Amino acid sequence: MGEKEMQAREIRLVRHPVGLPSEADFELATVTLGAPGPGEVLVRNRFLSVDPYMRGRMVDRASYVPPFALGKALEGGAVGEVVESGDPGFAPGDMVLSMWGWREAFIMPAQTLTRLTIPEGIPPQAFLGVLGMPGLTAWAGLLEIGQPKAGETLFVSGGAGAVGSVVAQIGKIKGCHVVATAGSDAKCQWLRAAGVDAAINYRTCGNLRDAVRGAAPRGIDIYFDNVGGEQLEVAIELANPFARLVECGMIAAYNATEPPPGPRNILMLIGKSLKMQGFIVTQFQHLQPQFLADMTGWIAEGRIRFEETIVDGLAAAPLAFIGLFTGANTGKMLIRL
Ligand code: NDP
Repeated sequence: MGEKEMQAREIRLVRHPVGLPSEADFELATVTLGAPGPGEVLVRNRFLSVDPYMRGRMVDRASYVPPFALGKALEGGAVGEVVESGDPGFAPGDMVLSMWGWREAFIMPAQTLTRLTIPEGIPPQAFLGVLGMPGLTAWAGLLEIGQPKAGETLFVSGGAGAVGSVVAQIGKIKGCHVVATAGSDAKCQWLRAAGVDAAINYRTCGNLRDAVRGAAPRGIDIYFDNVGGEQLEVAIELANPFARLVECGMIAAYNATEPPPGPRNILMLIGKSLKMQGFIVTQFQHLQPQFLADMTGWIAEGRIRFEETIVDGLAAAPLAFIGLFTGANTGKMLIRL
């Protein structure tokens, strides 16, 4: 190895997962990095994001983001530190956000990096969670599509996750009665401590419809869907006329090997005049400055709390990703390098 070379490990996809992904779908490989050329930057990653949407990119089909290539390093959100720069816009020590995740270090063109200005008291990895893509998803999905008004009832599934926990708390800021579901008692406790009116453990509550009805006596005006399946059916059933169904994600279906049946009560959309709208966060990129202003303000005021589940080491990244589908995380799931 030359003086200027370093070794970096990366996670590659070696086969398309069928059903719940397994560790054997991934491999850990090592590459050698030289020095950055003109316009390039060498970055050592500090935190990597694993996200549910990555499951969709592991399927070999055209979608809103192209599928991951087999035998190549996966991609995803990452926060790293500049080690060496061949570009005047970056200097060693700069913290940067990129999509060059699932790897310890990389050399890439400067224009693929965003330099981070990290507010006082905020950890840099927050730009992968509450101040990053999941935060913008929650903020824009709820405010732009959900259009919450004070006194309305907001029901959010996946309530203790990166997106859901922010949705639930913005709902409170906007004066809504907030009902959230999550997959463990500890997650529900955390949600209550964060100010949510009712948190329901959907795994142990018995009849979910009855539990949500009890927690939302005036019906549901906004449903923020992270899960799909039964929770969406419950939301449709308990929705008030003109309720908004914000279709953010349907994680319950991401590992399905056959297309899951649609909500059995979809007919109710007509009689209740429900509005159901899906979205992709990148559609709201132009609102980023307003999002950051709101969110940093709310965090500073203690009105938004955020939790992280941190897993150490690149080798653990596949298991952390798989853990998203078994509820291993509270708040944002992150890999620390
Ligand atoms: P989370 O942090 O919420 O992690 C996933 C969580 O989903 C798990 O912790 C688990 O919590 C829950 N879950 C997993 N499987 C099931 C299941 N079968 N039924 C019910 N709950 C389940 O992830 P994110 O916050 O990053 O993402 C949340 C949703 O938002 C996902 O659907 C994702 O695809 C979507 N999304 C959409 C975007 C868009 O642009 N439209 C952008 C970003 C995310 P529990 O213990 O509660 O089961």
